[in-house]
Amino acid sequence: MQLTELRGVGETLAKKFRILGIFSAQELVDAVPRRYDDYSEITSVSKIKPGLVTLKIRFGTPTQRYSRGGLHMTEALASDETGSVKVTWFNQRYRAQSLKVGEEYYLSGEFSPNHRYFSIVNPTIELAKSFPLHTARMVPVYRTTKGLGIAQIRKAVRSALDTLQFEETLPSWLLKQEQLMLRKEALEQMHFPSSKEKLQEARKRLGFEEVFQLTLASELNKAERSKEKSLSIALNEEAVASFVDSLPFKLTNDQRKAAWEILQDMEGDTPMNRLLEGDVGSGKTLVAAIAALNTSMQGFQTAFMAPTELLARQHAESLQKHFSSHDSPPEIEFLSGSMSKGDRRHPLERIESGVAQIIIGTHALFQESVTFHDLALVVVDEQHRFGVDQRKALQSKAKKMPHVLHMTATPIPRSLALTLYGELDVSRIEELPPGRQPIGTHVIIPEQREKLYKKLAEHCQGSKEQLYIVCPQIDEGVSKRANATTLHDELSKKWLKSLKIGLLHGRMKADEKERVMREFSAGQLDAIVATTVIEVGVDVPNATTMIIESADSFGLAQLHQLRGRVGRGSKQSRCYLVLSENDAPKKRLQLLSNETNGFVLAEYDLDERGPGAIYGRMQSGALDLRVAKLSDRALIKSAKAAAQQYITRGDDLLEYKQLHSRVSELRKIVNLN
Ligand code: ADP
Ligand code: MG
Repeated sequence: MQLTELRGVGETLAKKFRILGIFSAQELVDAVPRRYDDYSEITSVSKIKPGLVTLKIRFGTPTQRYSRGGLHMTEALASDETGSVKVTWFNQRYRAQSLKVGEEYYLSGEFSPNHRYFSIVNPTIELAKSFPLHTARMVPVYRTTKGLGIAQIRKAVRSALDTLQFEETLPSWLLKQEQLMLRKEALEQMHFPSSKEKLQEARKRLGFEEVFQLTLASELNKAERSKEKSLSIALNEEAVASFVDSLPFKLTNDQRKAAWEILQDMEGDTPMNRLLEGDVGSGKTLVAAIAALNTSMQGFQTAFMAPTELLARQHAESLQKHFSSHDSPPEIEFLSGSMSKGDRRHPLERIESGVAQIIIGTHALFQESVTFHDLALVVVDEQHRFGVDQRKALQSKAKKMPHVLHMTATPIPRSLALTLYGELDVSRIEELPPGRQPIGTHVIIPEQREKLYKKLAEHCQGSKEQLYIVCPQIDEGVSKRANATTLHDELSKKWLKSLKIGLLHGRMKADEKERVMREFSAGQLDAIVATTVIEVGVDVPNATTMIIESADSFGLAQLHQLRGRVGRGSKQSRCYLVLSENDAPKKRLQLLSNETNGFVLAEYDLDERGPGAIYGRMQSGALDLRVAKLSDRALIKSAKAAAQQYITRGDDLLEYKQLHSRVSELRKIVNLN
């Protein structure tokens, strides 16, 4: 239903709602209040105390006058059985007209007696005979925008609740089993709760539904996949052992375990769908290389997909390096979208004939022109989207569904992985290869910036080491130093004048970005000022220092991921976290100085600040949870159990129209990042 179909909402207001991202009546109802003001306790006038009060009163005839300062004042006496109190509105000329003398009103406002006005100033009132929206209850507070005030939003929400039909989305056996409110009631109570307890019940019901739908979607995907047939890739233990022996180092235990889990999955005849998590530099690529080697030993191909061409090239190089001491290295091929038709011809032939065994590239790997000889394993590195559609595209490239290994450096807390990525099996590498130097991490106040920058300019010139400067914003933003474009200009003119500085952010074209990163990795730039796009950037061992501006605006896990860009080489590396204000709280950030395990930091963030902190602005809307808290582990457990139960019962999803459409939508996306 259109917003304008709601009582009291015209095109002007609808426009304002759109600014808030609300486009329909349904979306209005789906908007979760940010908080509630509790005006539910009604006081009698005789017991009134300074502070926020709610009264049930009748007004006497109002009078109007001007204050000594020239302000228009409307005054009226408000009374109940116990006494009277003066009420004053400033500059609200319509008040005297609209006040219904003798009728019963609810009034909420601040009673702050002082020697000038012994009265309640500018309170909110509404007729007691109507359903109270703004007083005498727990009052919902929403995000507002210029020209769209809180009262207008409440009225529109009320009107939407009264107008829309709310079909039940959960099966009745489930409602009963979990003792959940009906959907209609839950929505009503979420906006206009009749008590704290009811609000909690409403949140429980709506949160349960969200997590239930998500997990049901992944469980259905999982169930469907268990029917798919894939090639079973036998483990060639000898070949794997001889490759591992040829490496100049020993695998970490976590690498060994992850490799084992992957090889086990691939021996089965249902396709693997596994997520391999580990910090940058934890050795994920090597684990993937082991799986790829085993695949090639059995005569099958591996496709290795990276998000950018530069990263793809780096993967190609590091795979070459890994295989370099092996006596029978697999044939590696590189393919990217930027290659000319002529350049692609030869690789395409080698891929089609099966001579190429490991094919590395960007999403160009899955274009129509590419025909694989016998694709059995797909490795997907740091991809934002890889869901049902992508799987379909893959399937069309292979005789049977290939095994899929996703890799990410984002540490995902277990509870989050269970809900958002429930259909993936997870392997984790927590332990870094030995000998890595921890990154010295320091919290800095803005006052110390000049000194720091000048010191680093000198250091970089002397040592030829390189520098990253990370900003939370591109060019908008209140603070000059928090936006990359302005800071880049300033630093180039002032403190880092002696250095060559590049600029990198998400609104630049892909080839522009690649060029800057290439120049940086080739050492043609001494420093880059960047937004978080460098999170999944490149490996530049010579970059040893990172400054993160307004570091308190990032989540800990994200900061940890960012600092993983330095400390890639043998040299001691440093990360400076600059606070946005001299007096910004720094305790949270100081955790980073002592904790090197990204998973621990991510769990902390999840509890303290919710999933948004982990995913920052990368968080995908489609999988956002509005009501449920992922830190509510009991809720997640019961919703997941219910989803499994649903599938075991064999209920037909089509019976529940809304549930069905929401779940099918969710089934299409498995988002990483
Ligand atoms: P990731 O893909 O997780 O970022 P890589 O697999 O690229 O990590 O490994 C990072 C670096 O560490 C590479 O240079 C690799 O050769 C090296 N490396 C990987 N595993 C080990 C290990 N067990 N011991 C020592 N070095 C390792
Ligand atoms: Mg990597």
